[in-house]
Amino acid sequence: MTIGILGGGQLGYMLALAGYPLDFHFRFLDPSPQAPVGRIAPRVTAEYTDYEALDRFAHGLALVTYEFENVPVEAARHLAKHVPVYPPPEALEAAQDRLHEKTLFQKLGIPTTEFRAISGAAEFARAVEALGLPCVLKTRRLGYDGKGQWVLRTREDVAALQQDFPAAPLVLEKFVSFTRELSILAVRGQKGETAFYPLVENHHRGGILRLSLAPAPQLALELQHEAESAARRILETLDYVGVLAVELFESGGRLLANEIAPRVHNSGHWSIEGAVSSQFQNHLRAVAGLPLGATRTLGHSAMLNLIGELPEPAELLAVPDTHLHLYGKSPRPGRKIGHVTVRADSARELSLRLSQLPAFFQREQFCLSVQASGASK
Ligand code: AMP
Repeated sequence: MTIGILGGGQLGYMLALAGYPLDFHFRFLDPSPQAPVGRIAPRVTAEYTDYEALDRFAHGLALVTYEFENVPVEAARHLAKHVPVYPPPEALEAAQDRLHEKTLFQKLGIPTTEFRAISGAAEFARAVEALGLPCVLKTRRLGYDGKGQWVLRTREDVAALQQDFPAAPLVLEKFVSFTRELSILAVRGQKGETAFYPLVENHHRGGILRLSLAPAPQLALELQHEAESAARRILETLDYVGVLAVELFESGGRLLANEIAPRVHNSGHWSIEGAVSSQFQNHLRAVAGLPLGATRTLGHSAMLNLIGELPEPAELLAVPDTHLHLYGKSPRPGRKIGHVTVRADSARELSLRLSQLPAFFQREQFCLSVQASGASK
C-alpha cells in the first residue's frame, strides 16, 4: 500500500519511519526541494495549488493524509475526488481558522476563553472594552509558534496597535491566566473506534514548544476524562479518521480548549519511546483501516525540542534511556531540527536523568524547574 502525505517536514519523516515496518510505502508532496523526507521517500516538489502535480502525485495511491495543516482545503477536496483523504478536508478547514475552531468548541459545549471576531480597528476597540485587558489578538489564519499574535496588557499596547492595525481577519481572546498548558492526543479509526494518550504538560518559550512531560505531572483522573470527552466530541462531529491534537489551558482546575491540530503533533513525539504504540503508528493504523494500537504509557517521558542548535550526541546518549531524533534539517535560529526523549520508570528517575543531561540542556530554565518539581514527588 502506498500512502500519500501532503507536507514533507519532520512529522512526515517520522510517519514514514513508523510505517515501514507495516510494509507501507510513502510518497510526499511538498513545495520545498529541501523537505527532510527527501532522504527516505519519493517526493513530488510542487505547490499545493498545482492540480496537475496533485493528480500525478495521487496516481496509484491507496489514500492521502497530511502532516501540514495549512494545506489549502481546495487541494484536499480535489484529491478526495480520486482517492480517500484522511482526516476529512472538513477537519482541515475547521482547524485552519481560529474563529471556526472556537465556534466549534462553543457548539460542542467545550469550554474556551471568551473571544470576538475582529475585522477592523473600530471593532477591535469595542471588543477590548467588552473583554477587558489583558487580551490576545490573533490572526485567524496561518499563525503558528506564536507568530501573528499580539498580547495586549495596557491601554498603551492597544493604542500602539491601533496606529498600525493588521489588515488580516482577526480574533480577539481574553487572556487566560493558566496554571499550565496541556495537550491531548486522540485517535479515531475508520469504524469510529477511539483511543487517547494521557494529557501532556507543555512548556513554551518564545512561542515555541520546548518541553513536554508525559504523562502530565500530578494528573487528576477527572481532568483526563474531561479532556477525552472534549476530544471525542470533536472527533465524532468531524467524522475524523487519524490522530488529532487538542491544545488546552488548565485554569482553576478546569480545562479551556485553545486550538486543535488535525495531524500528529510535536507534543506527541514522546510516544515513540514512551507509549506502546506511537502517535505516528496510530495515525497510520487509523487511516489504513487497521485496529488501533494501545496508547498506554511506558513509564514517564520528557521530550525536549532541539531549536536552532545541536547538542554533542555522544554526551547526550550516555544518559540512560535517552533517544535522539534528528530531522536532517540544517541548523538555523528558531528552527526545530530534532528532539530528544528521555524515558524512565518513575517520575523521580526521570528527574534524575534530566539532571544528567549535558550542560546544553541545563541552560533551559524550565528544565531546572521541572527537575525540582519532579524530585519532590
Ligand atoms: P497558539 O498559537 O494559540 O497555540 O498560542 C501560542 C501560545 O500563546 C500558547 O501556547 C500560549 O502560551 C499563549 N496563548 C495563546 N492564547 C492565549 C490566551 N488566550 N491566554 C493566554 N495565553 C495564550
